[in-house]
Amino acid sequence: MKPLSGKNAIVTGSTSGIGLGIAEALADAGCNVMINGLRNPALIEEACSRLRERAGIESIYSSADMTKPDQIVEMVEDAEDRFGQVDIMVNNAGIQHVAPIDEFPVEKWDAILAINLSSSFHTMRAVLPAMKKRGWGRIVNIASAHALVASPYKAAYVAAKHGIAGLTKTAALEVAEEGITVNAIAPGYVLTPLVEKQIPDTAEARGMTEDEVIRDVILEAQPTKKFVTVEDVAALAVYLCGDNAASINGTMLPIEGGWTAQ
Ligand code: NAD
Repeated sequence: MKPLSGKNAIVTGSTSGIGLGIAEALADAGCNVMINGLRNPALIEEACSRLRERAGIESIYSSADMTKPDQIVEMVEDAEDRFGQVDIMVNNAGIQHVAPIDEFPVEKWDAILAINLSSSFHTMRAVLPAMKKRGWGRIVNIASAHALVASPYKAAYVAAKHGIAGLTKTAALEVAEEGITVNAIAPGYVLTPLVEKQIPDTAEARGMTEDEVIRDVILEAQPTKKFVTVEDVAALAVYLCGDNAASINGTMLPIEGGWTAQ
């Protein structure tokens, strides 16, 4: 039997990058998965059927927009209706915008706070009552090294990710006696569409070429001088969802090649 057989998970923002990697790894561990995120419907259906074929699990999709609290509640209700229950909630959806504070568009600030921080509050609020009744649950928040340290020109992202650190610890304390754990993972740079898009913006904000941004900003931060892989982040998320991780609660686990050790 696979370690997460019979469990059901929602992974927000799982139509690409780290979220898709986590959905695949949970499926490989035997877990049914609801994926969520923005992408064209044909590619989403393809991702769901690939998960079903690859792992023999059930995979469904929610188009809920993580800026909309009512859609987040509907996503959880939909998963509970179709799976029976939600055992694992992975809050991964996120966006980035790179600009100095005095030029930072207000609508980008609002969107980043909503998607990268508030959506996790709304999903937890929706999944926790049933997890408490059953006495088992796993919540994994995908934070960032930027939950621990700052970088210039990422005000909204750094604020939201530091917020996730506080939300994770608070929720963990509230449910510590209920068989539920709440943890966060703090990845360094992973080469996903989110990072690919910020390279030209960072180049503009810092007056550098794109190659200089990769070498002197991105990989400079990580002593290993390597990108973190989606697979390594996904494996850590799966570990946190297993029974052996029952005593890991309220943590922020860095997976960033030593960035925050400096
Ligand atoms: P990505 O751009 O590949 O994926 C982001 C996902 O979020 C996509 O599925 C997208 O459709 C979804 N999304 C965006 N807006 C949404 C909305 N309004 N509603 C629902 N879904 C929405 O990016 P990624 O790098 O895989 O990032 C995933 C998470 O990992 C984010 O929280 C990000 O902050 C975090 N992270 C990424 C890195 C990195 O270097 N890539 C490092 C640390 C943390």
